[in-house]
Amino acid sequence: MSALLPYGRQSISEGDIDAVAAVLRGDWLTTGPAVAEFEQALVNFTGAATCVSVTSGTAALHVAYAAAGIGPGDEVVTTPLTFAATASCAILLGATVVFADVEEDTGNLDAQAAESAVTSRTKVVAAVDFAGHPAEMDALRKVADGAGALLIEDAAHSIGSLYHDRKVGTLADLTTFSFFPTKNMTTGEGGAVAAVDPVLGQRAARFHNHGLVRDRAEQRYPDEGPWHQEVHEVGLNYRLPDVLCVLGTSQLARIDAFKARRREISRRYDEELADLDGVRVPARRPYVDPMWHLYPLRVLGGRRREVFDKLRAAGIGVQVNYIPVYWHPAFEDMGYRRGMCPRAEAYYLEEISLPMFVDLTEDDQSRVIDAVRRALAG
Ligand SMILES: *Cc1c(COP(=O)(O)O)cnc(C)c1O
Repeated sequence: MSALLPYGRQSISEGDIDAVAAVLRGDWLTTGPAVAEFEQALVNFTGAATCVSVTSGTAALHVAYAAAGIGPGDEVVTTPLTFAATASCAILLGATVVFADVEEDTGNLDAQAAESAVTSRTKVVAAVDFAGHPAEMDALRKVADGAGALLIEDAAHSIGSLYHDRKVGTLADLTTFSFFPTKNMTTGEGGAVAAVDPVLGQRAARFHNHGLVRDRAEQRYPDEGPWHQEVHEVGLNYRLPDVLCVLGTSQLARIDAFKARRREISRRYDEELADLDGVRVPARRPYVDPMWHLYPLRVLGGRRREVFDKLRAAGIGVQVNYIPVYWHPAFEDMGYRRGMCPRAEAYYLEEISLPMFVDLTEDDQSRVIDAVRRALAG
């Protein structure tokens, strides 16, 4: 049997390789010009006021929550249908995570459920653009504003997606991206935080670099000497090095082609699977233009495990996204209980992510579609 077809993987061109090699031959492996170039390219692409590159999507979430100023006593309202990091990073800062249920069809944070979950302690509402489909950001904006909270969008799946013709990156106060190899574009490991308000953007940039203040006008001891820099609020080193930033710039230059190919793959799955008994294809609101990161097929009738096992046996590297965050033992041990968000749990119990990546061939996609048909028939 040939190697397992993965559910996601990077697309690396000779141009990407040449760009990285050129940086390796230069003077700056990190904190050099490729960082500013990548961040400017991200600003141009997303339409955000500022973008800071960081070492992962997880770092991006940590930075965003830190920039939002959350701490003990604060609550973060978010979805359980996400990777654990969306919640974990808030918990590491001492905040309490309140899970609100998802929309039955898109799997995105439901604005009404979020509205019911906010309290006077809510400091952040954090949405996730599941599979690349933007969350209901206008309704969530009202919920966040009404609670006096900031709106954060975990856009690990959705760089390049549009919502009412507006770009992901401009919809929330802070938007986080991941550049892990399976995501829509990659830097190996990497991520970014986009801000609409430059003040929040600066707080994010500071936290990702130890909280250091180099501008003398802002320093408490500006006459210390030319070497001087001050830590005003503690932070960490989440800097993305030049060798990875240049890969990001090179990937970003290809992102329109990536999006077009992902759209093609997703349409073909839709066309060939929509009429099949026993499955549901992903929902899409008419006013969004997603850059599909995943193709989340729903397997009905309690047959998810059976179909999953058959696809794996057929050499198809399917995945499941995601176990509800509060099912993880660490969260269970904090007191969260199964049953809290029934729509998210129902979504999880049906979900299988089919292979979805730019270099997936027509033949391989045919193989996947045949294997799904056979798994359901058998
Ligand atoms: C991938 C992912 C993250 C974390 O990103 P890393 O780059 O792997 O740290 C966070 N949230 C979601 C929804 C993700 O898919």
